[in-house]
Amino acid sequence: TDPKIKSVDENLILSDIKTYNEKLSKITYLKGDIIFFEQNKQKSLNLIFLLNKEEINQYFIKNREEFFIYFGFLPIFGFFLFYIVFRKYITIPLEKLRQLAYYNNKIPKAFKIRELESIRHSMVDSFSRLENEKKEFFLMARTDSLSGLANRNSLQEFLDRLIPTAKRKQEEFAFLFLDLDHFKTINDSLGHNIGDELLQKISGILKKVLRPNDFIARVGGDEFVLIIQDYKSNLELTNIIKRVQKQLSKPWVIQTHPVETTCSIGIAIFPQDGKDQISLMKSADIAMYEAKKHGRNQYHFFTKELNDKLLKIINLNKQMRIALKNGDYQLFYQPKVCLKDSKIIGVEALIRWIDKEKGFIPPSDFIPLAEENDFIIDLGDWIVEEALNQYLDWKNKGIDIVMSINISAKQFLQNRFAENLIEKINSKKIEPNRIILELTEYILIDQNNSVYSTLRKLNEFGVSISLDDFGTGYSSLSYLKKYPIDYLKIDKSFIDDSCNSQGKVFIETIVKMGQTLNMKIVAEGVETQEQVEYLKSISCNLYQGYYFSKPIKAKELEEFYKSL
Ligand code: C2E
Ligand code: CA
Ligand code: CA
Repeated sequence: TDPKIKSVDENLILSDIKTYNEKLSKITYLKGDIIFFEQNKQKSLNLIFLLNKEEINQYFIKNREEFFIYFGFLPIFGFFLFYIVFRKYITIPLEKLRQLAYYNNKIPKAFKIRELESIRHSMVDSFSRLENEKKEFFLMARTDSLSGLANRNSLQEFLDRLIPTAKRKQEEFAFLFLDLDHFKTINDSLGHNIGDELLQKISGILKKVLRPNDFIARVGGDEFVLIIQDYKSNLELTNIIKRVQKQLSKPWVIQTHPVETTCSIGIAIFPQDGKDQISLMKSADIAMYEAKKHGRNQYHFFTKELNDKLLKIINLNKQMRIALKNGDYQLFYQPKVCLKDSKIIGVEALIRWIDKEKGFIPPSDFIPLAEENDFIIDLGDWIVEEALNQYLDWKNKGIDIVMSINISAKQFLQNRFAENLIEKINSKKIEPNRIILELTEYILIDQNNSVYSTLRKLNEFGVSISLDDFGTGYSSLSYLKKYPIDYLKIDKSFIDDSCNSQGKVFIETIVKMGQTLNMKIVAEGVETQEQVEYLKSISCNLYQGYYFSKPIKAKELEEFYKSL
């Protein structure tokens, strides 16, 4: 490859290599033969490589310097530069940060690789802690902390997944709304601790009784939602529900207190009773209320009729309030007659709703509903006001008769009921003994002190108390003795029985007992002459009934009174 060598005389090489070698003593050579065939003839070639040592040495020396520059100096310089940059832009700022964080001290301290490692370690720690907290938060946002069951959020998420799947597969599932019966009473009487523990126990039972792929959520104080899939028939579904109710109704002992509880369950089926969470919840809730109405520890399926009934009630609810604003209520008055001399000594005010479209709506259609939704409090205020005004109006006209006003339990149990009524009667300058309040026995069942003190206050003020529908409720002799009651009204159902001897025994017992306790006895719903004669014969005091007069308008009563 060396052009100089190429120029060496070929013959010289061939003839005497040694001679050549001597001439160029600094040159070494390598020799070899190449044997090859040209057609059949073997031929050979001699190959000789001549190497000039001096030249190689010089070449090597020249290249060594470059080698040191590229492979020695430059990497060291590069590393040094990297170190400076790393220190300036990473190590020192980090160190300052560390100083600031740990000591709040601006004086940078010596930075050690061990500390960098500990910072890294603490960062890894913090990140994994954050990760765990994130997981905890995720669970917390979806778990009810008291029971450990799913909560509303989780229910929503579950349904968001379940509904599209069920829709696609055209499958149904049952959405159950479970509400404990009388949980509030347990909570109030035994305390929240016991209430909480009961809820935990119940959650445990629910988990145990249902299958793992059934979904359970606690959505309110004592309200649970259960979602049951993969049941073959309604029979299987009701068996599951019965199992749940049976397990829950077992008596518990919580902190040595024996506690008994039952639950009411409403059932809505997807998709027929609701296609999303809100409508399923609503339907199951309606069904649950129906279950409660049928007594406790019951279950009820949602039906279209229930829905219609509810819509009617909602509508009635609204209209009831509008009617008060529009002045569509009227009080009718039924005379109370003295059996001895057939004179009207008083009247009972009875409410009537006269709707512009529907006409006459009897109180039995709206009073129970008004009691349920507390509208009776507003309506009751109106009734009392109207009846007192009517009393005054008649009194001014020379008709001085006693006014009986029906008071519903809700109204009576209201805070400051007695005080407000007393204030009203005083402000109208009415003599209290001209007013009678008709109460049902239900008020007295709840034998607490506030009922007693309200009755006492009214009694001391001079207002009379009449026990309505006597005999139909949980009549108890003990409260007849305990409470200041002035009148007993024998219920119409007993008067209806006055034609047979057993019925007579009842009536006579009530009359004797009441009179022994210094009460006056009023017979309700008297419709015949015989009944009047009979009541007279047993010295009953007063009577009311269609025989004498139906409830009539104030104006009519006025004329009727004057005509006697
Ligand atoms: P209640 O207080 O027991 O009233 C007696 C009911 O018997 C009245 O029905 C009256 O019209 C009816 N009645 C009276 N005599 C006879 C009779 O001879 N035969 C028959 N078949 N019925 C007779 P009404 O007015 O429909 O009231 C029903 C119930 O609604 C009342 O029972 C009462 O509980 C409630 N109510 C009516 N007005 C008021 C009110 O102003 N306030 C409250 N809170 N409740 C009321
Ligand atoms: Ca009454
Ligand atoms: Ca009655």
